[in-house]
Amino acid sequence: MNFFEYRDGEMTVENVKVADIAKQVGTPFYLYSSASLAYQYNQFKEAFGDLDVLICYAVKANTNQSVIKSFAEMGSGADVVSEGEMRRALLAGIPAKKIVYSGVAKTVDEMAFALEQGIYQFNVESEPELYQLSEVATRLGKVADITFRVNPDVDAKTHAKISTGKSENKFGVPWVNVREICATAASLSGIKLVGLDLHIGSQITELDPFEEAFKRISGLIETLREDGHEITRLDLGGGLGIPYQGEELTPLPAEYAEMVKRVVSHLGCQIIIEPGRFLVGNAGILVSKVVYVKKGQERKFLIVDAAMNDLVRPSMYDAYHEIVSVNESHQDRELFDIVGPVCETGDTFATNRLITPMESGDLLAIRSVGAYGAVMASTYNTRRLVPEVLVNDKEFAIVRPRPTYDDIIGLDQLAPWLSK
Ligand SMILES: *Cc1c(COP(=O)(O)O)cnc(C)c1O
Repeated sequence: MNFFEYRDGEMTVENVKVADIAKQVGTPFYLYSSASLAYQYNQFKEAFGDLDVLICYAVKANTNQSVIKSFAEMGSGADVVSEGEMRRALLAGIPAKKIVYSGVAKTVDEMAFALEQGIYQFNVESEPELYQLSEVATRLGKVADITFRVNPDVDAKTHAKISTGKSENKFGVPWVNVREICATAASLSGIKLVGLDLHIGSQITELDPFEEAFKRISGLIETLREDGHEITRLDLGGGLGIPYQGEELTPLPAEYAEMVKRVVSHLGCQIIIEPGRFLVGNAGILVSKVVYVKKGQERKFLIVDAAMNDLVRPSMYDAYHEIVSVNESHQDRELFDIVGPVCETGDTFATNRLITPMESGDLLAIRSVGAYGAVMASTYNTRRLVPEVLVNDKEFAIVRPRPTYDDIIGLDQLAPWLSK
C-alpha cells in the first residue's frame, strides 16, 4: 500500500498535501504516515494469526517518540540496543515486560538499568557478556532471563554492511558453541536461560536464508532440551526487506509467517520477532527543495537542500531511493544527478536519474526513508538536524522540530584558556 499518492498531480500523504506541510515547516524534513505504520504492523500481526507471537519493533530503525508511541498503542513490544533506546521505549509507553535487549557490547550500567526496569530478556552474544550479566544481576538480587544469540553461519544475501549471520561477523555465539555456553549459563547465579535468538541481517528479500537459519536454530533447541534445558522462547530477529524501487514486496508477510509456522511451531515456544525496516521503511519520505539547477560539462545536477548528513544511506550503503517531484502535473522526464550541498562528492542521492525536470524552488521527495533515515542524521557541515512530521489522516504534527543554530553551536564549550 502506498500512502503517498498523487491527486491532480500533487503529492499527498493520507489526506494532506505535501506542499502545504512544506510551506509551514520549511525544507528539508522527514514526513511519516501513521496509516502506513499501522498497515505494516497489522499485516505482520495478522499473518501470524493465533500463533503466540510477540512483535518487538526494532526501535533503532526510527526512534522518534511519536513513532514508538504509535506502535506502543498497537500493542507492540520493542527491541532495543542501548540504554537510550530502552529509555525511549519506556517513555513511549512500551512496558519493560515487552522489551528485549540486543547488542554485542552491553555495558555494566546498561545491564543494571535494564534489570532494574524489569526487562523481558537479554539477547546475550558472548561468554564475557554472560559472566558480566551474571555478576550484575547477582549484585542487584535479580535474575536475568536470557536467550543466546546464535550465529547460524548463513548468508543472508544482502549488503555486506548489514549482513550479520555469517561466521566472520561479530554477532552472536557460533552455533557450534551453543551447547557449551548453555551449560555454563545453567551453572551461573543471576541467569535464567529461556531461549535462543538470531538476527541474520537486514533488507533480506528471500525466504531461503531465513528458513535455513530457523531450521538450524530449531535443531539446536531440540538438542538443548535433550540436554535438560527448559527452552520456552525463540526470538527470530528482524530483517525482512521492503521495496525500494516500486517493485513487488517480497517475501510477503504471509509467506514469511507461513514458513515460520512450518519450521518452528512444533517447538511450542513463544515466538518473538524484531522487525524494524519492514514496519517503518516505506512509511516515510524526505522532502527537499531544489536550490539550483546546474549544468555541468557532462551532467545536469539538481542541487537540493537535503544532504548526506540528513540521509546517509545512499553514500553509506549505495542505497537506491526513488526520487520524485512533489508536483507531477506534466509527463516530461530528464536525466539528472541529484546532489546535496555537503562538500563531498559522496553527497549524492542519485546519478543519471530520469525524473520530472525541476527548477529552483521546486519540491522533491526521496521515498522509503522511514527506516535508518532520521536516526542516522548528523549535523555535519553545521547543518541543523532535519525536523520530522507525522501525518494522521487530515492532521499533521511536527514530532521533532528543527533545532536553532544556537542549539547546535551551544553544545560546544570554550576551553577555559580560550574564553578569557
Ligand atoms: C537491526 C536489528 C533488527 C531490525 O532489523 P530490520 O532489518 O530493520 O528489520 C532486529 N534485531 C536486531 C538484533 C537488530 O540488530
